[in-house]
Amino acid sequence: RESWASDSSDSVISSGSDSDGRLYKVILLGEHGVGKTSLARIFGGVEDCAEAEEAGEDAGFPRGRGRGVPGERPLAAVPPVSPTLCFPSPGNTYDRSIVVDGEEASLVVFDIWEQDDSQWLQNHCMKMGDAYIIVYSVTDKVSFEKASELRIQLRRARQTEDIPIILVGNKSDLVRSREVSVDEGRACAVVFDCKFIETSAALHHNVKDLFEGIVRQIRLRKDSKED
Ligand code: GDP
Repeated sequence: RESWASDSSDSVISSGSDSDGRLYKVILLGEHGVGKTSLARIFGGVEDCAEAEEAGEDAGFPRGRGRGVPGERPLAAVPPVSPTLCFPSPGNTYDRSIVVDGEEASLVVFDIWEQDDSQWLQNHCMKMGDAYIIVYSVTDKVSFEKASELRIQLRRARQTEDIPIILVGNKSDLVRSREVSVDEGRACAVVFDCKFIETSAALHHNVKDLFEGIVRQIRLRKDSKED
């Protein structure tokens, strides 16, 4: 089990924005069932905290300001978003500030990719993000292939931009039903020129590293633009 920050004074989650005053939009993409919501809810501090605490374990993240409701199970029946509304259902967005490398960064994580089937929403997702997390399940080869398609789609939608993307192989705890090896995941990330990490939302493994990685990727690009 990991903790969000080893120094508790460093792990304070606040409602402030980061040093440049921006709230970075991070979009989760991926097939149904790969663990997008689970990852988002861990980030938001609303996933399984009570259960993990009961088990005497560190849930990985301090409780945060996710717009989901702490302690509640995932919202199963989220009303679809009308294409005329620009904002997703609040239950599917999680915003918080985290301290990475001693500096605060504010992220809002959108788990809206599957919220409705409209092409409009998916096109919007492809355009609105400052960074993307493309998730597949290591137990599902089809979801891995879909991740590649999503990467291609994203590249097409944001041709001229160098957007931070992390490819995530989730469910790494399910060792016996693994269909995608770490090497395959890594190789795919090389081909698609993005970062790669394997996570287990169930064990909260590497989830903190994932979101810290996104912040670092955003900063790298921001810094190189400023140079
Ligand atoms: P989404 O459709 O991509 O948002 O996927 P969900 O987050 O709803 O997860 C789908 C199912 O996979 C749920 O039953 C989760 O509890 C389970 N799940 C998600 N992440 C993991 C993981 O890392 N390990 C295991 N074993 N199950 C997971």
